Amino acid sequence: MQTLEEASAQRCHGLTDRRSRWTTCLHEAGHVVAARRLFGRAGGAAVFEDGSGVADVGRQVDVPASFKDALATAAGAAAESLDERYSPPPVPMPVPLEVAYPEAAGRLKADVAELMPDEVAIARWCIHGREGEPDLWARRHGWVQAAAQDFVAEHRQEIVDTAAALFGRGIVRLPALPGKGVAHVGLTADAGSQGSLPRGCQTEHESPCDRVVERA
Ligand SMILES: [Zn+2]
Repeated sequence: MQTLEEASAQRCHGLTDRRSRWTTCLHEAGHVVAARRLFGRAGGAAVFEDGSGVADVGRQVDVPASFKDALATAAGAAAESLDERYSPPPVPMPVPLEVAYPEAAGRLKADVAELMPDEVAIARWCIHGREGEPDLWARRHGWVQAAAQDFVAEHRQEIVDTAAALFGRGIVRLPALPGKGVAHVGLTADAGSQGSLPRGCQTEHESPCDRVVERA
């Protein structure tokens, strides 16, 4: 039988899991909303049982190609700060993707392990083309971080709603923004085949339980 201490520790651990999953969801939602608002791209994100996550923002190369691209990369970490004001939605955590779609989730996690960390990608963008001007590297870094903070403040409700959907479902897709650019789809492979991640689960923001209550 479980002791009181064990039960309490387990409950605390569960809360920590929810909290870290929520922070990951905000991070990935920051990327996806930035790709949509800045480029009109469709995007998607997934969060795993171990609290890690991934966003597909339609960028094919690791190092950002432009200021806006670097901003979309920085928007992930910038969006994490929203967890100070917003709590995770009051919904149970879904069946982990690793359990529901073991093959596709395994492939996705293997791909994630190959990705360049955001901070490395941003640093390389800061230096790229200005290798001989180290003072400029730091200024570029400051500009992109400040722009990412502004972006998150401006689009905070969309980011929080997207993160809430991701939290509750484990995967989320946002459609392209009409008139903003070329649609890009690509988070999931093998749509329709058994064991793959569902392609059609877009964020509709339709479910009241997906709405997040702003903390007092
Ligand atoms: Zn990121």
